[in-house]
Amino acid sequence: MNAIILSIGDELVLGQTVDTNSAWLSQHLAAVGCDIKAHMTVGDSQRDTEQAILESVGRCDFLLISGGIGPTPDDLTRQALAAVMHVPLEPNERWMAQLSEFFEKRGRKMPEGNKIQAMIPRGATMIFNHAGTAAGIDATYQSPDQKTVCRIFVMPGVPKEMKLMFERDVLPHITAAGGGACILSRTLHTFGLGESAVAERLGPLMKRDRNPAVGTTVSGGVVSIRINARECDPPTARRALDETAAACEAALGDLIYGADDETLPHVVARLLKEPKALTVTTAESCTGGLLAKLLTDIPGSSAYYKLGFVTYSNQSKYERLGVPTEMINLYGAVSEPVVDAMARNARRLAKADLAVAISGVAGPDGGSPTKPVGTVCIALASAIPDEPKNVATSAVAARTFNFPGDREMIRDRSAKMALAMLRYHLMGKPMTF
Ligand code: ATP
Ligand code: MG
Repeated sequence: MNAIILSIGDELVLGQTVDTNSAWLSQHLAAVGCDIKAHMTVGDSQRDTEQAILESVGRCDFLLISGGIGPTPDDLTRQALAAVMHVPLEPNERWMAQLSEFFEKRGRKMPEGNKIQAMIPRGATMIFNHAGTAAGIDATYQSPDQKTVCRIFVMPGVPKEMKLMFERDVLPHITAAGGGACILSRTLHTFGLGESAVAERLGPLMKRDRNPAVGTTVSGGVVSIRINARECDPPTARRALDETAAACEAALGDLIYGADDETLPHVVARLLKEPKALTVTTAESCTGGLLAKLLTDIPGSSAYYKLGFVTYSNQSKYERLGVPTEMINLYGAVSEPVVDAMARNARRLAKADLAVAISGVAGPDGGSPTKPVGTVCIALASAIPDEPKNVATSAVAARTFNFPGDREMIRDRSAKMALAMLRYHLMGKPMTF
């Protein structure tokens, strides 16, 4: 079972309105196991609409059209459909009466132009519009040789009206045709490796003809694994999804930090709260408080975050955190000894269980041959073994990274890498990247 979605409107092809109807329809069709063959968009032109319908009917079981059934001369979808089907448009008495009543109730005479909204191709069925004046159309296209059959639904372009009509009068037909097929999805998130390295580890799980299908997407340094299970009923799909998710977890191990809506800050917050209630402080230079922001994005963050430091200048690193000026002069502000001292001292000053410090060259200026733009040092200070409450002395792990991209990207990756370091520390495992 498959479908093509056709959106009609000059504003769509001109890029003035984003075609949200197609995205919404795709999501709802996928949920009932209907494959989407294509999204098509044409302007308010009868010829282009006819062409798009003709191109689609031979390729899909269902053609879902939205837009172009208003009362104005630029609304030509019904005319195009009638032309393709070689039938005339006929008035639908029920909708004509509905329209007259609509205008009567408002004490207005129905404009002549509105009458077109009650016209549908001969042999088609009118779909009641519970939110507007444009009736929808349910038609079945058959090629002259009877070889091609395609069910066509025409819905309004106004998103609210389209959604209501789709859910009430279109989706049930598609669900019935699919015999209860369904697609369930899950997304697993990783941070630390690039997309191709993740794909390499997933290996045959990513084969194109596999069900559940496994694919990757990347956004903000987070490589996500999308799993879509296509089965005949939800319990079977859920089982298939669980099995494939487990196979992905076996292939990627600790790299996976969460699923679906879970973010790195969510996961770190959870690990900070359980099994022990731990507190964390931050000492940031190039990220300017971004790490603190991410940690406090989570409701209830006061349980683990009390105080942080943004020490942007060298002087503030000395004055607020007590990083010796000689150390900064000797190694540079972006160096492992400096972030080590920042983390150590921040932990002591904030009386926190953990401290993370970041100092880097976010650019675009300030790079040097030895420390190019993107060089970022991150340190994590924690209690020394057997002395969990002693903040005067810390165990510190410091690392230097080289992040690609512009200033925004470097700052973003730095804060996320700091969260990743925290996550591995809280799990009691070594970082694998
Ligand atoms: P009718 O809704 O009466 O059938 P129409 O859909 O062509 O006709 P328009 O006046 O062209 O009506 O569009 C109504 C509103 O819906 C506009 O704001 C338009 O931008 C929006 N719209 C139309 N199609 C889409 C779409 N595919 N995605 C998002 N918005 C859309
Ligand atoms: Mg329109």
